[in-house]
Amino acid sequence: MAENATTGEDLYSYDEAFRDTIGTVDEKGNRIWVYPKKPFGRFHNYRAIVAVVLLILLFAGPFIKVNGHPFLLFNVFERKFILFGTAFWPQDFHILALIMISFVVFIVLFTVVYGRVWCGWACPQTIFMEMVFRKIEYWIDGDAIKQKKLKAAPWNATKIWKRSLKFVLFLAISLLISHTVMAYLVGLDQVVEIVSQPPTERLAGFIGLMAFTGIFFFVFWWFREQACVAVCPYGRLQGVFLGNHSISVIYDWIRGEPRGKLKKNEPQADNGDCIDCKMCVHVCPTGIDIRNGTQLECVNCTACIDACDDIMDKVGKPRGLIRYGSIDGVKEGRDKIFTTRVAGYSVVLALLLSVIAFMLTTRSDIEATVLRVPGQLYQKQENNRISNLYDIKFVNKTFEDVEITLNVEDYKDVTIKQVSKQDDIIEIPANSVLEGVFFIEMSRDDIQSMNNKITLQLIKEGEVMDEVRTSFFGPAK
Ligand code: SF4
Ligand code: SF4
Repeated sequence: MAENATTGEDLYSYDEAFRDTIGTVDEKGNRIWVYPKKPFGRFHNYRAIVAVVLLILLFAGPFIKVNGHPFLLFNVFERKFILFGTAFWPQDFHILALIMISFVVFIVLFTVVYGRVWCGWACPQTIFMEMVFRKIEYWIDGDAIKQKKLKAAPWNATKIWKRSLKFVLFLAISLLISHTVMAYLVGLDQVVEIVSQPPTERLAGFIGLMAFTGIFFFVFWWFREQACVAVCPYGRLQGVFLGNHSISVIYDWIRGEPRGKLKKNEPQADNGDCIDCKMCVHVCPTGIDIRNGTQLECVNCTACIDACDDIMDKVGKPRGLIRYGSIDGVKEGRDKIFTTRVAGYSVVLALLLSVIAFMLTTRSDIEATVLRVPGQLYQKQENNRISNLYDIKFVNKTFEDVEITLNVEDYKDVTIKQVSKQDDIIEIPANSVLEGVFFIEMSRDDIQSMNNKITLQLIKEGEVMDEVRTSFFGPAK
């Protein structure tokens, strides 16, 4: 609570009723369209630079290849993933799952410390909405007041031209985004094939591209800030992540309250620094008043910081009435970042990263899954030998064809035969799965019991690539 030093009056006892509703929905449940004023200022400029860098990375990503293979690929349809040039298969799912968990912990940790910095500076939704589509809108329709006038205007030639131009540009950029997303999902070469053939030839791909285009167009043309307010799970979880010490865009109520209009030739009396000009509200793309406190809708876009700094410059007061800071920081005059909660998350994150590093360094490039052929115990062969039949599935996670041989570590006199081939060399094509049926045969004299544990080794150029434990059945002694 902020108190007037002399009267003890609570300066920040605002009505919390605003938390019962969303700023962009009226009492009848209708959408209130937000017309934010064009933002400007130092934070906006910094964000524009970050946005340009991230957009270049996003659009360049599918073109970056390592030895002819994508640098990043998230092919959920065929369950093929390439991260930083390294292929991951469903067999590596445990590593991918740990990477995802670590990413979530990192996001939580980052949010606990720095609030919604991700939303304002790096989220594709905010970058495309505020730095691409909104810029086009300002360019075509003008600033907020002109946009409102155009909305209210009849459908004359100017309005039809402006709406058509905006429609075409929004659609073109939505197409560009959908092709890029598709390239991350199925690879650039596949996207080139889809667009260079008639839609009927690659119907699934064509439908996918059109569906993505439709979704992006819908989001940026109409849905806009509702994606952050009503859909994004990360946004919905802010109430759990954020604490009094989390850094976010905050209004310094101790300095600003009681707010009051600045009147010419009249002293400011006991008013705080907020002159109630509402510029911070007018620039907000989610239609909220940050002076009400931290809110779910705030995407930390910094537009209100820039707007208020500009006002403070004009009225000759220090900048930072709205700034990056924490609730505790405003109360105590000092932001404290390293708390027990942060320490706890940091330890968990460090542990997870250590486990991932260990798994990545010990992960084998070639793996095998061995299953005994159902319904077969063992076969009696000539020369007092016993064989067992196995289905073996090999995965070559590298981008090169490899040749391997098999070896059973635990026994000396062992023969391994491929059912489909005479020689014992197994050729596994690059980045693919090979299945085969194999006989493992050994002398009956070496078999100690009905169920014998054996270790099957995958050998490439004399090096053991993977070891799989399985059972070898034989007759009882
Ligand atoms: S822009 Fe600053 S001075 Fe103006 S209403 Fe907002 S907080 Fe108050
Ligand atoms: S309150 Fe400020 S930082 Fe938050 S969304 Fe609105 S303008 Fe952006």
